Amino acid sequence: MSSIPVNYDKTKSFLIDTTKCTGCRGCQVACKQWNQLKAEDTRFFSGEGYQNPPLMSEYTFTRVKFKDYQKDGQNEFAFYKEMCMHCNEPACASVCPVGAFTKTAEGPVVYDAKRCIGCRFCMIACPFGVPKYEWSKAFPLVRKCTGCYSRIKEGMQPACATACPTAITYGTRGDMIKEAEKRLKNRPTRYQQTIYGKDEAGGTSILYLTHRPLDELGFKPVTKRSLPSYTWQALRLVPGIFLTVGGSLSLLSWFTHRKERIKREQDELNGVAAPDTKEEHR
Ligand code: SF4
Repeated sequence: MSSIPVNYDKTKSFLIDTTKCTGCRGCQVACKQWNQLKAEDTRFFSGEGYQNPPLMSEYTFTRVKFKDYQKDGQNEFAFYKEMCMHCNEPACASVCPVGAFTKTAEGPVVYDAKRCIGCRFCMIACPFGVPKYEWSKAFPLVRKCTGCYSRIKEGMQPACATACPTAITYGTRGDMIKEAEKRLKNRPTRYQQTIYGKDEAGGTSILYLTHRPLDELGFKPVTKRSLPSYTWQALRLVPGIFLTVGGSLSLLSWFTHRKERIKREQDELNGVAAPDTKEEHR
């Protein structure tokens, strides 16, 4: 695991108040714009929720979930934004054999594509189903939200937090927990008396307040223990065939990336302009 000692109270955090989300999807658009992610076809579907696109993907790092429920015999909608939870002790980082994931001191869990060998252990380990694979590409990488690490290093807020008109409060994790507790105390009938993310998976940088029970809104029930202590134990049970085939593909992918990297470095040394790269998500 590639991580440094982190004071979690000081890490940057999102407080997402689902009672204030209007479902405008400004956060979704801002994320696409900042990360230069291509649009995806939208369609009506009858699966869980009515959001579009239906799922997060390598092109959609965040989405606003539209969840219907019944209240006093009426159909109502709840909206909330899904994204990487930027766990305090990320399971993805703990299982990555090459240290491609790092929990930064600022809070975001970032990903270094130059190290990735494509084993996809992170996808199995993440309890929230966040990392996505570029299945459509010849040389795929893992992609996920980076918490706009490059923006917060420059003193800015993440693109989605900047765009949100109502529901996102952004600050240190310690302050966001205090703010959430204040809202629970001041409006006891408005909120479920729980903060999702305060303890889930050992604590995360994304915190939610809801007005309906978590299971009714489709929040994943996740252990409150930190996961790195037992992710490797679980992965030891992954069938050998998967590891063999996955390992071969990973090795191939690693060699290909290495070749490309060496060529790029040689081009740079020879004064040929390197292609525009974005450290955040490659
Ligand atoms: Fe890693 Fe998943 Fe946690 Fe994001 S939500 S930090 S991908 S374990």
